[in-house]
Amino acid sequence: AAKGGGRGQYRFYSNDLKDSAQDRREIEEELRDALARGDLEMHYQPCVDAKTYKVRGFEALMRWNHPERGYISPATFIPIAEDSNLIVAIGEWAMKQACRDAAEWPDTIGVAVNVSAQQFSSDELPRTVSNALAASGLDPARLELEVTESVFMGDTYAVEKMFGELKKIGVRLALDDFGTGYSSLGYLKKAPFDKIKIDQSFVRGCTEDSNSNAAIITAIVSLAQATGMDTTAEGVEAMDELKLVANLGAKLVQGFIFSRAVPQATLMEKLQDGNFTYEPVGPSKHRSERR
Ligand code: C2E
Ligand code: MG
Ligand code: MG
Ligand code: MG
Repeated sequence: AAKGGGRGQYRFYSNDLKDSAQDRREIEEELRDALARGDLEMHYQPCVDAKTYKVRGFEALMRWNHPERGYISPATFIPIAEDSNLIVAIGEWAMKQACRDAAEWPDTIGVAVNVSAQQFSSDELPRTVSNALAASGLDPARLELEVTESVFMGDTYAVEKMFGELKKIGVRLALDDFGTGYSSLGYLKKAPFDKIKIDQSFVRGCTEDSNSNAAIITAIVSLAQATGMDTTAEGVEAMDELKLVANLGAKLVQGFIFSRAVPQATLMEKLQDGNFTYEPVGPSKHRSERR
């Protein structure tokens, strides 16, 4: 990393620096150490029923607890891990940790783990998943794997074979960030998805007349219903958005209006109170800067 004044001074996460190949390599080295040292953590964001606000599951979201920088977003480091083979080791750790944590939750509550396209095209994935399930004792039906449309960029035969192997293990499959990739409806026929996650770019501002977001959400919901899939609206921040996506038929919702991703200990405190229902918080409280 571009170390400014000696050891432990990191400047490499500024956007201008992280673009250079050398800086990317150095972040990769740091990340390898972080995995070995236990500086990576899994945090969990609730996915709740759009009508009752009862929690159905949690999405596992990785955090890098950097000794100097504090928490670093996966949006910064996952792409770097994906460019190297490191995503396979990190992904294996994430799968193990998420299953172990989820095994402590009530058994009506599932866990969703993000899987990169690079993991998806590695033969190791089914074994990684089976091992994580066996080590934790988690029921495979409680584990959902989230992949994006980018998995379809790979070898079609291998991708379909992977879907088959994962379904045989008994896990659920979700198509993440739907509508942002190289969307082709054709692959929805080939892939045994249980759920479509409507990308936050359609949810954010869906209540404004100036865009066609609400129409797009309606179309995705009816497509999902026709093919027997659940839908989650991602990135719900405001009460008016929550009401609208529920009325448009989204079955589940996820977003800052209910909670950001929190550590396992925080989540266990809530669940131990027997409280499986989330309350939407006011729109002003959590609304992030529009991007
Ligand atoms: P994703 O899977 O689409 O996850 C949703 C992202 O949206 C998360 O960002 C979450 O914190 C954020 N989010 C949720 N609700 C709201 C909201 O109401 N408003 C806004 N503005 N954002 C919201 P996060 O945690 O930074 O993760 C970013 C991406 O990094 C994820 O997108 C996923 O693609 C990737 N990622 C995270 N953890 C893992 C992991 O364990 N493995 C892999 N391969 N990728 C991961
Ligand atoms: Mg996801
Ligand atoms: Mg997403
Ligand atoms: Mg995403």
